[in-house]
Amino acid sequence: MQHFDAIVVGAGIAGLGTAGLLQKQGLKTLVLEKSRTPGGRAKTRILPGGWRVDSGTHCVDNGDRSACADLLGRIGAEIGWSRPVQGLHVFDGDRWKGMTEYFNLSAAELQQLTGLENSFAPMTENEIDRLDLVSLADFIKERGLSTAVAKYLKIMGMVQTTLTDDKKISAGEFVSIYREGMQCGGGFGRLANVQMPLGGISTMINAMAEACNNPGCQIRLSAPLKKVRIDGEGVQLLVDSETLRAPAVVLALPIWQISGLVETDDTPLLRQWQERMYNLRDETSASMGFTIGTKRPLFTEPVYLSAWRLPDVGLPLQILGHTNFDETVAPPGHMIAFIGAPCTPAQARDEDFRKLTLERFWQTVKKMFPSVEDDLVWKVDGHYVGIDGLGRSPGLTGKYRPPVAMPGRQGLYFAGDCFTGRGVGMNAAANSAMLCAERIKADIAGLIEGSDRR
Ligand SMILES: Cc1cc2nc3c(=O)[nH]c(=O)nc-3n(C[C@H](O)[C@H](O)[C@H](O)COP(=O)(O)OP(=O)(O)OC[C@H]3O[C@@H](n4cnc5c(N)ncnc54)[C@H](O)[C@@H]3O)c2cc1C
Repeated sequence: MQHFDAIVVGAGIAGLGTAGLLQKQGLKTLVLEKSRTPGGRAKTRILPGGWRVDSGTHCVDNGDRSACADLLGRIGAEIGWSRPVQGLHVFDGDRWKGMTEYFNLSAAELQQLTGLENSFAPMTENEIDRLDLVSLADFIKERGLSTAVAKYLKIMGMVQTTLTDDKKISAGEFVSIYREGMQCGGGFGRLANVQMPLGGISTMINAMAEACNNPGCQIRLSAPLKKVRIDGEGVQLLVDSETLRAPAVVLALPIWQISGLVETDDTPLLRQWQERMYNLRDETSASMGFTIGTKRPLFTEPVYLSAWRLPDVGLPLQILGHTNFDETVAPPGHMIAFIGAPCTPAQARDEDFRKLTLERFWQTVKKMFPSVEDDLVWKVDGHYVGIDGLGRSPGLTGKYRPPVAMPGRQGLYFAGDCFTGRGVGMNAAANSAMLCAERIKADIAGLIEGSDRR
């Protein structure tokens, strides 16, 4: 049997990132991926005629200065970045308004917001950790912010987290993401430096897979892990008819895919851990909506489009016209637009609610863009539960997230947007990959000594 120092399960951003880092640290690493292609939730579908359609928006907060870019640099993967998103326009029931017009802040309100933004910069990590236990709704209330400033913060919180309720958004995570955006030139009137990998998200995934392969990391596709057994001897992976072991095993999977896979002995700590994973499986974000290709741009401004609640639909709005930032993803002159309504997992799973909401939503889209049906080349209706990992609720972000190392049992690690590692989806996955690889590096001498290598 081939020997590996580390086995990583899952070839999403977190799995590829962790594997690339471990291989660079000199560990012989194997990646197991159940699908035929890497990328996980971050994939690009190629449609005939020159369309490269990402699964959802897949824009990277802070683009070439993000945690994703940092991870790419560390593993030696190079990509080009799209033009940055420059602002946010909000739908006001019958037309789009720029941020300044929509929020219409008075001089005193602007001063209030600037004061708040300035207070984020010197916050210590401990202060942010404390805010992780407070909701954005309470944070707004405690500071006595005006209705207009509060509305702005709620919309920004929803855009960052895809969560529809400011009581479910952690103030610590909000401040941390907002502050990082400010460091990249974001703030009121300017969105953070949001960018997409040129050619779609698969450009980033392919570059990561290539960077893993180069120093010799093996990626096995169509290789689903069936069970993980944790016992006194360590960690055993059952894959097809094979049983694999390695000193370091990383499950780079979302929590809802882990809880059914792991079998542990009856240690109270492991039982507790398993129960926690199971109970967290629905703590996530969801969305429903449309991806469309049109023969003309529906709008050309380099902005993100949003609304706190859509009339007749009752849900928030997120629209990204991918082609306004990267025209290589569609035939010349055409547009790809992602038009989504963040919702709760229960709403996304409810077929009747979905059918009614999508019908009403499309009627609203026709009001927003009266030419949309004439210009339509294709349209895909969809819904998704588990968008960017563990929901960013109070008590579930920062240091309160499940850790990247198994408590009480050496040799089993976790990476991905459900585990410790701040930021919006892909940045959270990248941050946790870097944390996980660091943790393994710190543990590894002991782990390899205790293994049957040598
Ligand atoms: C519609 C949509 C839109 C999004 N938009 C954005 C955005 O604009 N910005 C942003 O930052 N993030 C966005 N995200 C979130 C982003 O895609 C995720 O945060 C990120 O891809 C998570 O990476 P990961 O490696 O943690 O997990 P995943 O991508 O889920 O990777 C897990 C991998 O494990 C594999 N796997 C699962 N079970 C097994 C098994 N038993 N054996 C072997 N392999 C297994 C899976 O096939 C998958 O490849 C979006 C997500 C969706 C779904």
